[in-house]
Amino acid sequence: MKVLGIESTAHTLGVGIVDEDDVLANKKSMYKPEEGGIHPRKASEHHYQHALEVLNNALDKAGLEEEDLDAVAFAQGPGIPQCLEIGAVMARSIAERYDLKLIGVNHCLSHISIGTRTTEAENPTTLYVSGGNSQIIEYRNGRYRIIGETLDIALGNALDKFARKLGYPHPGGPEIEKLAEKTDDIIELSYPIKGMDFSFSGLTTEAERKIGEVSDEVLANSFQEHAYSAVVEALERAMAQEGSNEALLTGGVAMNSRLREMVETMCEQRDAEAYFPPAEFCMDNGAMIAHQGLVELKDGRGTKIDDSGKRPDWRPDEVEATWIEK
Ligand code: AMP
Ligand code: MG
Repeated sequence: MKVLGIESTAHTLGVGIVDEDDVLANKKSMYKPEEGGIHPRKASEHHYQHALEVLNNALDKAGLEEEDLDAVAFAQGPGIPQCLEIGAVMARSIAERYDLKLIGVNHCLSHISIGTRTTEAENPTTLYVSGGNSQIIEYRNGRYRIIGETLDIALGNALDKFARKLGYPHPGGPEIEKLAEKTDDIIELSYPIKGMDFSFSGLTTEAERKIGEVSDEVLANSFQEHAYSAVVEALERAMAQEGSNEALLTGGVAMNSRLREMVETMCEQRDAEAYFPPAEFCMDNGAMIAHQGLVELKDGRGTKIDDSGKRPDWRPDEVEATWIEK
């Protein structure tokens, strides 16, 4: 079966095509703000303007026409409402025009699914850290449960905000990483963990207030050490609680080498395995939406046009993950 997937939850408009054996295409266009963070209307205009181009690139790459597809999946949420709208409209139009099955999938669950497809992980405890989401997720008893999550802003968003104050353009995570690599010095900041949850808004403000007092390199390094330690501590506790011996790191922040190193060290110490999907599948992409669509299609699921409206606040634990036990 061949499924086309559309990702448009935030800055990336992605179109991927998969079947059971291969990722046949994974094309995208990314919106880059000229200044500041993601502007919802401008991001959605970007997606609208590049919709046909990215769609055609993916079909060309896969050597397919729309008629050859079995279904169209789209990221129904969570995400920025204006951006979600574009993906939903694209998916509905293609599905209606070519009489294909329509499947609205959860963006967070798609990150996990493509992670288990592209690594050896089977039933991992997932640390999903990106520009808009920060969650620790585990499958338990019919659903993916959120074991820990940010109480305010996402980790990627915190890095982007702090980097912006230091004068770097969006996305700031990679810039903070480069600065942090220049030093081993660290200053004490507040440690942003609250039980199994974490919060990055206070840490960001605190680091911003110290700009000028402490070098940018030391601030960047300190920010990373505190923020990454907190999420890895929560990840370790989630694994201990569940007796899990697999960790999956995904989302844009999973590109960070210091965070990977921390996850790897933690896993080594508890005789667990750490899994990192290839970069193109960590970042938001269309193939992960297509793959989740394929999984749900084979499980007999689908979305009626009437139920295909955007779901900006859709939590992964609202989905009954009926495909897992089967
Ligand atoms: P996503 O929302 O999953 O596409 O991921 C985008 C987020 O990942 C942004 O907040 C980026 O700053 C962040 N990011 C990308 N690369 C890195 C990196 N090397 N280190 C830290 N954060 C990163
Ligand atoms: Mg994402």
